[in-house]
Amino acid sequence: MIKDYQSQKALRDGYDFCIVGAGPAGITLALQLAKAGWSVVLLEGGGHEYAPRSQTLYQCPSTGLELYAEETRLRYLGGTSNHWMGRCRPFEPSDFSVTPPGTMPGWPIAYSDVEPYLAGAMEIVDLPKGQDFKTVNPGLGGGDFDADRFLLSPPTRFAQKYATALEETPGLEVFINCNCVDLEFDPASGRLAAVQVSDYDLHRERLVARNFILASGAIENARQLLNSQSLAAAGVVKKDGLVGRCFMEHLNIDMGTFILNEGQDPEPRQYYTTDAFVAEYHAGKGNVSAALLSEVKTYGRTAEVKDFLENLSCEMGIAHKIDFIAKFSCPGDGVIGTMIEQFPNAQSGISLLEEKDALGMAKAHVHWELSADDRRTIKCIGTELAKQFAETQLGFVKLNPFVYDASVPLKMSPHAHHMGTTRMAASAEFGVVDRDCKVFGTENLYVAGSSIFATGGASNPTMPLLQFALRLADHLNDKMKSTGASAV
Ligand SMILES: Cc1cc2nc3c(=O)[nH]c(=O)nc-3n(C[C@H](O)[C@H](O)[C@H](O)COP(=O)(O)OP(=O)(O)OC[C@H]3O[C@@H](n4cnc5c(N)ncnc54)[C@H](O)[C@@H]3O)c2cc1C
Repeated sequence: MIKDYQSQKALRDGYDFCIVGAGPAGITLALQLAKAGWSVVLLEGGGHEYAPRSQTLYQCPSTGLELYAEETRLRYLGGTSNHWMGRCRPFEPSDFSVTPPGTMPGWPIAYSDVEPYLAGAMEIVDLPKGQDFKTVNPGLGGGDFDADRFLLSPPTRFAQKYATALEETPGLEVFINCNCVDLEFDPASGRLAAVQVSDYDLHRERLVARNFILASGAIENARQLLNSQSLAAAGVVKKDGLVGRCFMEHLNIDMGTFILNEGQDPEPRQYYTTDAFVAEYHAGKGNVSAALLSEVKTYGRTAEVKDFLENLSCEMGIAHKIDFIAKFSCPGDGVIGTMIEQFPNAQSGISLLEEKDALGMAKAHVHWELSADDRRTIKCIGTELAKQFAETQLGFVKLNPFVYDASVPLKMSPHAHHMGTTRMAASAEFGVVDRDCKVFGTENLYVAGSSIFATGGASNPTMPLLQFALRLADHLNDKMKSTGASAV
């Protein structure tokens, strides 16, 4: 049943599970746990549609690299799945076995812990049952780049696809316009006793449940933990601790341009670094796409035509093409884009500002930067790609100078894949949640979503985070049964 908390103050106490956030992670968990027979309340801060009063609560200034944090997340039922693109690639064994450079360890679990949940995650986002992740083109040869493998979800819009299930699954209550604004920790029991929720008229209420799961996205999960005075007073969240740190993105580097040799297939190509490449260069993983420019082919002759075109009258209706050519300053058939792994780095992360949002929560601030290891990854991927284009007679690559010279400002953009702010680790020294996604120092507070990623690899995050959500649902189901609780 979906109720609007703005007009229906019908929350009750005593739910088995309270889940904060109804994006892919929260909806998946809520449906799994309710179908297993537990009583579940799913709290969604936004409504059925986009609304400024909800979206402005995501305002989040940033320093360091530009993140566009407000624009890339959606704060209403279905979360950011309301505009995701549906590209799916699961983690692979090496994501769990390789230790990243720097001071942070990799995953404390193995690939075999999440692999059993792949089929279930595929079904959730409407990928064909049993289909292997496709190889989209031949690899580059030479051992550094394989062909990339991925599948495209339609893309599944979680609020639409699961509308009936959210309305009709017995044991599940969904409240929209119901914002979690505080977490109340009881140090005597080590349990989160309640969450405070608020509507948009600042009506606040306390909600008691047996277990709580934060599933509000990587920035908000950290913000919730940092904002809680009781978690801070109990030392669960420490001032200089790891909550909010190690924010990771996937790096979309404007690598440069390329020309294909005569006779080469003009179809777009997507490559993926091999495990051998990662081992040899101690670099991160990366997806590289090389696509011909369909709009204008310049073949390096732009200089001659630029002056002429810039002086042409725009009345001819070719203004955008003129602009494109005037700004395009290199020879090339096509452009090279990337989705590159960023290593966990405690200097990148979420902190809180003094300033409060409209509901009284401290606003989040993101500082995002790259480490020297990230710059090395970019350089290795760029230069090895260029070499292999030439060695395999595929063509010729012209790299932008910042790829190999770290003193030149980098041209890049984020992929809107927010990860790592409540990272999983074997101990509290290196992470925020344990192997079961439980916040260290608590008995009943869990986190779902890509904030738990210990490393981000170069796979799109939604498929792995759904595998983790299914794994967490199994764990919580077992935990409840082991305490003697019975599902209805
Ligand atoms: C343009 C774009 C394209 C993308 N394309 C891809 C892609 O192709 N492949 C891929 O794998 N990933 C992609 N992503 C990333 C993908 O959208 C996320 O990985 C995914 O949505 C994360 O799911 P989530 O449930 O963890 O968080 P979200 O989807 O962010 O959901 C969080 C939910 O929590 C709610 N919430 C927040 N705060 C509170 C609060 N205080 N109280 C109550 N509720 C709250 C929000 O309203 C929201 O509904 C893309 C992202 C963008 C922006």
